Amino acid sequence: MSFRPALLIIDLQNDFLPGGSLAVPNGEEVIKPILELLPQFPVVVATKDYHPPQHISFASVHNQEAFTLKDLPNPEDETQTKSHTLWPDHCVQATHGCEFPEEFLKKVDIINDADFKPNTSSVSSNTTEKKPTNVVLVKKGYLPDREYYSAFADVWGLHQTELETFLKDNDITDLFIVGLSMDYCVKFTAIDAVKRGFKATVVQEATRAMGKKEDAAMELLTNGVEMISLEKLNEIMDQYNDSS
Ligand SMILES: [Zn+2]
Repeated sequence: MSFRPALLIIDLQNDFLPGGSLAVPNGEEVIKPILELLPQFPVVVATKDYHPPQHISFASVHNQEAFTLKDLPNPEDETQTKSHTLWPDHCVQATHGCEFPEEFLKKVDIINDADFKPNTSSVSSNTTEKKPTNVVLVKKGYLPDREYYSAFADVWGLHQTELETFLKDNDITDLFIVGLSMDYCVKFTAIDAVKRGFKATVVQEATRAMGKKEDAAMELLTNGVEMISLEKLNEIMDQYNDSS
């Protein structure tokens, strides 16, 4: 039975952290556990919500209040709509809000999927100087006419990001998903991962929800996603790194 894990960090961006335009309550608490997990994984992917200034999910574009619901059309078939929450402007390309937090940037080299080489574990090495972890950046939300929650595709499933191909090219079997927020992009990415044949597990201490985390947890579990504690995941990764 093969086991090749990847750490998938969802939208750890300044706008979702304290002081950001769409801050997730206690979102900053995920940073420490994520930094702890980084050097343990051979493959690490970080996603960015990466919107143009006039994105369809922004309330400002529709002259509406943030957090109201609106039916948004399928970009390829206007007769189909889905009801969506409209958001404050957030994660606009080339703004501070779109960036990863400083503490994270200090520990990583951000690369694109074509330049990827697996990280060798620095956990068991005796050197005190740790190499930065290579982190593959996957952007979503840059097409202006559609919403994205899953990091694999837009809400209509019309545009697939490079994420699935990258993970399959690197023989990933198990995804450990962390980041923000648990009830939106983390949840939809995890459920989408299961549909695409990965084992998907959300790390409890390394995610926070906009709303009720219990509701999100229930939905994850009923859709075949597992939840794990940071402690248990550390044990699994210790074992994996000892044997590989
Ligand atoms: Zn967004």
